[in-house]
Amino acid sequence: MRGLILRLCQCPNCDRQLKENMTSILTADPILEPRYMEELSNRLIIDGKLILSEGISQPIVHPATLQVVGHLAEATASEIAWSVSNAAKAQNLWAKISPQERGVFLRACTEKLRHHREELAYLLTLEAGKPIRTESIGEVNFLIKILDYYSGLGTEIKGETAVLNSTTLMYTLREPIGVVAAILAWNVPLALMAYKIGPSLMAGNTVVVKPAEEASLSVLQAALIMQACLPPGVLNIITGSGEKVGQSLIQHPAIQKVTFTGSVETGRLVSIQAANRLIPVSLELGGKSPMIVCEDTDLEEVAKQTLIAMRFTRQGQSCTATSRIFIHRNRFDDFCHLLKTEIDKMIIGNPFDQKTDIGTVISAAQFKKIQYFLDLASREKEARITYCSALPQEEKLNNGWFLQPALITGISHHHEVVQEEIFGPVACLFPWDDLQSVTQMANDTRYGLAATIWTHDLDIANFLIDNLKAGLVQINQHLPVQPGVSFGGYKYSGFGKEASLEAMLDYFTQKKTVLLKKPESIFV
Ligand code: NAP
Repeated sequence: MRGLILRLCQCPNCDRQLKENMTSILTADPILEPRYMEELSNRLIIDGKLILSEGISQPIVHPATLQVVGHLAEATASEIAWSVSNAAKAQNLWAKISPQERGVFLRACTEKLRHHREELAYLLTLEAGKPIRTESIGEVNFLIKILDYYSGLGTEIKGETAVLNSTTLMYTLREPIGVVAAILAWNVPLALMAYKIGPSLMAGNTVVVKPAEEASLSVLQAALIMQACLPPGVLNIITGSGEKVGQSLIQHPAIQKVTFTGSVETGRLVSIQAANRLIPVSLELGGKSPMIVCEDTDLEEVAKQTLIAMRFTRQGQSCTATSRIFIHRNRFDDFCHLLKTEIDKMIIGNPFDQKTDIGTVISAAQFKKIQYFLDLASREKEARITYCSALPQEEKLNNGWFLQPALITGISHHHEVVQEEIFGPVACLFPWDDLQSVTQMANDTRYGLAATIWTHDLDIANFLIDNLKAGLVQINQHLPVQPGVSFGGYKYSGFGKEASLEAMLDYFTQKKTVLLKKPESIFV
């Protein structure tokens, strides 16, 4: 939660300050104007309309300069109730439209979003400090790609049939669940929104989305763009804190399903709340993913790919970041050196600058959390922290939440720094000698989201594929999530799948079994 809470304030002084801040950040940007941010500030989307919330409001700051660039509302109890009851009304009609036709609506949304790619990317960079070139544009494209993928799945919403006996036909129907509450984390807000609204809407559900406070503007704007192509009430956005707005949303009697992405601790609370209401919940939670580098690999290539696997461009704020790297002892020193050399080539700087590779951490709280873990590691006698690349020197970025990527060696695998998800640009590196013990170490966390293996030896690859406890295992590459490829964790990384047909059918529909008595045949 952001620290400072203000009363909704629209006095001329605040307006002027907001305009000045926006103008100084976006002077080089022809798309966004201060006026535009005012239009999104303190807004919710309910019943197809952009609504000025009556809730208390808090400032939104640009993480690179800490300038206030807008305001975010804490939706009131009556606004939450209004959004859910409208979504429930809309759901009755939306469910009656055929799945293929719902696909036409969704496809129209993606066409519309395509025309607003730059504007959404700028918003993402503005609120989250993600570099425009290496992160934000890609995330907007991904939002469109995922929604496009789901828009074509209408004909796949089908069940099974069986002839039970000569007079009974059994078949199943995949029906919508109702109104879905979608609660999002802040690290990839548009991607998470796509994972949740794509399958929900295609399956005939309507949705109320609660984005994270740190990253609500891009979600609001994307949903606003989509309103032009959707019936009112089908897609609603309410903003505010998880503790109040998120909880009240889940507790609303018309919510029939919760889909959540976030931390293990909040996931547990959300799960308990959903269990109290006996409604289904899917949880996409944290990770501490291992990457195993074998002796036979091209180390230079692996070092380059580690930049992607660790998501240094996003300051390591990725659930699948390979933050525990195990390298065969014979190649350990070479790899550490190569990895540092590759990271040193990256530019940390103004996220709006096209030259920048690495942007900012999202918030002061996240910045402090990462520093807490770095402090802990620095107090370990045997541990060595190697900082890479260089912090930006521009004066206006002096207070921004920039961190240098850090590589930690010599730390025990049982240490808190290794076991807990830091969600920052911090990777721990370990040498390994034998396959059994590295597999054991790789599995030795409460998480099980993803794992990456680098080897050309098929026997080793197969052994690791069979023995790693992770929901997604990649060999000799580190691709981002792909449309059509089920993504979801083992162990504390959650349950449920996203980004696939399976995700839509198993987690966003309910199955009705029908037993149909056939008339006796008139033919002998
Ligand atoms: P978080 O603190 O757990 O928050 C996630 C969302 O839950 C936010 O919208 C938050 O609201 C809301 N929330 C907080 N308390 C709540 C409550 N009692 N009831 C209902 N909602 C509540 O997680 P985060 O810091 O935003 O995100 C980082 C985490 O997400 C990491 O662990 C990361 O690994 C995980 N993640 C997982 C995946 C995946 O696919 N597995 C993808 C991305 C991120 P506010 O914060 O606005 O108050």
